[in-house]
Amino acid sequence: MNGITIALSKGRIFEETLPLLAAAGIEPLENPETSRKLIIPTTRDDVRVVIVRATDAPTYVQYGAADIGVAGKDVLLEHGGDGLYQPLDLRIAKCRMMVAIPAGFDYENAVRQGARLKVATKYINIAREHFAAKGVHVDLIKLYGSMELAPLAGLADAIVDLVSTGSTLKANNLVAVEHIMDISSRLIVNQAALKLKREIIVPILDAFASVVGS
Ligand code: ATP
Ligand code: MG
Repeated sequence: MNGITIALSKGRIFEETLPLLAAAGIEPLENPETSRKLIIPTTRDDVRVVIVRATDAPTYVQYGAADIGVAGKDVLLEHGGDGLYQPLDLRIAKCRMMVAIPAGFDYENAVRQGARLKVATKYINIAREHFAAKGVHVDLIKLYGSMELAPLAGLADAIVDLVSTGSTLKANNLVAVEHIMDISSRLIVNQAALKLKREIIVPILDAFASVVGS
């Protein structure tokens, strides 16, 4: 392809990237929520969008199947951003990585006593680092979704999950007890593409930066 390919996941990242794309004169011609198309042309014939699973965006950009993309800091930390240039925090899809427990569980006390905690999460690497830094012993249990269920069903004592409004925690009688880090999405760029397709990519980076910076 002569132009460039942008990897985006549908949902919040696609929606929140639209104003940034608009600043670069890029408007997708179909809505991935209603279209089944995975390759979406845009108002610029040198730019197309591919719709990927959020966790797959770094892979597409690493291998050069997409030239640029958008990925959450959680995804980049968990799956690695190897070889990716990450020039810009887009400040979209903001949320927080938290430790949460069932209301009533005395987490502080369990930690103080050196208890071994069972922690369920999709974010094994982030959780491992967090508890290691605190010197808390944990058995990590890998899940792929609905972390909130784990303590309720007796699978784990605590979870590590992304929280934005906290309403999902509340609805399941869970409380957040530790803030691990703030999360937002980053622009990711294939380094070879940046060299070979500079004249297309750099103005897009500049347009994004002007929106984010304002
Ligand atoms: P799915 O929800 O389809 O299983 P996913 O969770 O990987 O897939 P999204 O829910 O679209 O994909 O999340 C994409 C990114 O948005 C995450 O990697 C994270 O950085 C951020 N994110 C996740 N949950 C929230 C939230 N509740 N509020 C704001 N940003 C979030
Ligand atoms: Mg999700």
